[in-house]
Amino acid sequence: MLKRFTINQLLFVSHLMLVLVLIVGMSASRYQSEWESRVNYANERAERTLTPLVRDFSAAVAGRNYANLMMPSQNEALFNIGELLFLDIQGKSDYSENSVSVRYSREHMTVWRTDVTQDEINDVSARKNTLMAALDNPENQDKVRNRKLNFVLNKTVDDLNALQKSTRLSLSFTPRWPRSSHSEKAFQLHQEDEVLIVQLPLINKNGGHVWAVFDASNLFTLKQQIFITLAIEAFVALCVSLLLIIGVTHWLVAPLSRLAKRIDHDIEHLDISDLEELRRNDEIGVLARGLHTLTLKAQTQMKILRHQSDTDALTGLAGRHSYTEHADAFFQATRAENKLFGIVVCDIDHFKAFNDTFGHGRGDVVIKSTANAILGALRQDDLCFRIGGEEFVALLQIENASALETVAERMRSSVEDLAIPHAAESAVVTLSIGALLITPSASAMSFSDAFDEADSLLYRAKRSGRNQIAIGTLQDQKPPPRKESSDRQTTEIMD
Ligand code: GH3
Ligand code: MG
Ligand code: MG
Repeated sequence: MLKRFTINQLLFVSHLMLVLVLIVGMSASRYQSEWESRVNYANERAERTLTPLVRDFSAAVAGRNYANLMMPSQNEALFNIGELLFLDIQGKSDYSENSVSVRYSREHMTVWRTDVTQDEINDVSARKNTLMAALDNPENQDKVRNRKLNFVLNKTVDDLNALQKSTRLSLSFTPRWPRSSHSEKAFQLHQEDEVLIVQLPLINKNGGHVWAVFDASNLFTLKQQIFITLAIEAFVALCVSLLLIIGVTHWLVAPLSRLAKRIDHDIEHLDISDLEELRRNDEIGVLARGLHTLTLKAQTQMKILRHQSDTDALTGLAGRHSYTEHADAFFQATRAENKLFGIVVCDIDHFKAFNDTFGHGRGDVVIKSTANAILGALRQDDLCFRIGGEEFVALLQIENASALETVAERMRSSVEDLAIPHAAESAVVTLSIGALLITPSASAMSFSDAFDEADSLLYRAKRSGRNQIAIGTLQDQKPPPRKESSDRQTTEIMD
């Protein structure tokens, strides 16, 4: 499955995934630790705020001193704690079994009792009535006593009002925040209401606790800010990483692709000497230089091999392999240029007999000398091949039949002129030649057919006594019949 991707894509995707995992992981853990430290700080602040109050409350609860708990300065002190929304103090007096229970609400800006009973109200109410009755008694004319009675009456009325107010508030106000079930120190952040709920134990002998609710909306606003800051940081990190990934991918993969593209060609014609990767100092540079050296070596070896396979080792002429490769191409090129084409097939006469008489070593020397003589009779642009033991073929672009005849005659005579002694009737080594001129009008003629025709001419020369040239011209549109075809053409036998 991975094979379907390029190195570039794989590198890009794997780096991107790595970076994403790192960024998301780091951002999440930073977010978590940042948020936890903010929450801890808020808890500590709430505890620091409540600790001195807990001392005062514990003393008041110990002595069941409602006056202390509910005095106006206490209200003011609690109201000055801006974030305190609600306070609930419950405990047990240290000197009696009576419980103490008061509440503060920022909304009502006051502290009230939640443990007022109807009996208590009735008692104070009865006391108030008794005091009023005593004051209304016409027999009571003592001014000092009346002033004292008035003072006590006012105090009793205040107490009664306070008790009634407490009853009213207790009935109308129900805290909407959840309360911790255990009595230990506890902090609880309530996301829905954006409040911090704190519970601290009282330090009086018979115990009790303070349950406080602080406004934590600032903390949640901060939470959002932390999230936004971290998201921006993660985005910037991602952008920087993307740039780095693209840079690295480009730096590593682009040169490799360039290298791969350049070497994806026929090694014989490969030239990577201008590749800029050759000048790099890293592994890609080493690879590019190695490839360059390898290419040059392979090209040199191929040149040597090609030369060896193209060249006939004995004569130095082009050999059979080269003939197969180039003869037809040369024929087609000449035809494309609308020029006349000449095929000259040569064969040493009675060579078997020469070998038999003088031995193969001398025979090889004769083949070499004959090749040189033939080559000397040709022009610069003509091609010459040794295609068999003592057989040679020359291919030429020629002006006309008489020019072809001149060249063939030059070949024949130059071998005869070598005057290499032979036991045959001619007394010297001679050459028989079949020379065929192909005009552009013989357009349907293939090279192979043309060669067969030239070969037939050679055998005609042999049959006619050797050491001579048989020359013919092909100008038909149609290919000639395979056998004895030269009889129908313009054919001449020359001595
Ligand atoms: P013809 O005039 O009909 O061509 O007679 P020929 O004897 O030349 O022809 P034939 O094909 O019978 O013999 C060719 C001989 O050429 C046979 C072989 O021994 C010899 N020969 C072929 N290759 C070489 C070579 O590389 N060196 C030597 N010394 N002789 C070779
Ligand atoms: Mg032969
Ligand atoms: Mg021969």
